[in-house]
Amino acid sequence: MNSRKTRAVARALTITLAIVLAWGWNQAPAAAAPTITVTGGGTAFVGQSMNVTGTVAPAGVYPAATEVRVGSTWSRSQLGTTNASGKVTLPLTYGKTTPGTYRFRLRVMVGGVATYSREFTLTRRSTRVLVLSAPSSAVSGTTANVKAKVENLGAGRRITSQFLVRGKWSNSRTVTTNGAGQATIPLTYGASTPGSYTWRLVSTNPYGVTSVTRSYKLTRTGSVEPVIPDAKYSVTRGPNVTNRVVLTFDDCPKSLTAFRQTVLAAEAADIGLALFPTGACMSSGRFDAAFARAHGMHVFNHSVSHPDLRGLSSAGIRRQLGSPGIVTTYGRPPYGAYNATVQAAYRSVGMRIWTWNVDTNDWRGKSQSAVVSYVVSHARAGNSVLMHMQWNGFSPSAIRAMKSGLNARGVQVCRNYIGTVPARPTGMWC
Ligand SMILES: [Zn+2]
Repeated sequence: MNSRKTRAVARALTITLAIVLAWGWNQAPAAAAPTITVTGGGTAFVGQSMNVTGTVAPAGVYPAATEVRVGSTWSRSQLGTTNASGKVTLPLTYGKTTPGTYRFRLRVMVGGVATYSREFTLTRRSTRVLVLSAPSSAVSGTTANVKAKVENLGAGRRITSQFLVRGKWSNSRTVTTNGAGQATIPLTYGASTPGSYTWRLVSTNPYGVTSVTRSYKLTRTGSVEPVIPDAKYSVTRGPNVTNRVVLTFDDCPKSLTAFRQTVLAAEAADIGLALFPTGACMSSGRFDAAFARAHGMHVFNHSVSHPDLRGLSSAGIRRQLGSPGIVTTYGRPPYGAYNATVQAAYRSVGMRIWTWNVDTNDWRGKSQSAVVSYVVSHARAGNSVLMHMQWNGFSPSAIRAMKSGLNARGVQVCRNYIGTVPARPTGMWC
């Protein structure tokens, strides 16, 4: 190329550059920064699929992302690409299953520069299942209902009760919510068997999110004591109308500690004892009737000062059947001694006499193993076994050995009453 041609090309380039620059200066303000318009957000239930749609102008294919405000920073959530019309639709996934209000924005990279939409929010509404009220205990065989609701979803939601059975949650009953989103669920599992039951409620919303309550306990107490009709009552069986053997203990424990240990051991071994402390014992502080009843033992009268009641006047007998002795519905006269006057006095205070049919003679100083083996070899179905709290049959190991020894012979002992035994029972749950 010669120098003339070179100069001509250079001049042409200069003119072109000038034109381009002049055009550029004029056009630059018209090429506005990219903008993004969005539709999305609002309100949804947990689990419900929600999208945001954004449109970038000028249209073009660009990388896009949703961002969510977490604490004080914006975090990228879902990635996508705008189409040739500049449109992109992305799911709003962050916090999908957790109730709350979430702040989002859409980001599009136009020519390598981040462009943001306005901020918008999505509020996720809870669909939790809630226990409104629930009984913690109920008598066996009675109805125990839970009131529950599912938040925000109204009628037609299903709530299922589950019980913990041998370490696994098992479905029990399913009910449907009413217009207020509420439902009543009967706790039916084990309803006729005394014991402690663990339950919870479960409900799945229309979007597949399952809500589970915490676990609750229901104690089914021993059934209401049978009211003993006069024809069925017997002096030796007392209120026991079953084939189970009642271990009964009279008088007074050696100490309050010994008393508590034996009561707790009986409860743990599912044994229901019948205890007959004297009023003198109550005054000594070695027997706690409220403690015994709260741990499922029946507590009955054994006079105040342990006299032979046959030697007393009617008024004197009645005094022996009152405070500080146990004021209740069954009583054991000292030495099992009674006559017509004693019987009339018991009747007049609304108390029935309960003696025994197996006398262990533990008070003669028998060893624990001697008392245990006597009980195991002599007690028959439905018997009342007489022992004393200050002697060797009244200990944790003794009562456990009596129960296992009798069971080995096919004889059952009265079970522990679950719940608190009434102070004036009409019968005995055995
Ligand atoms: Zn006695």
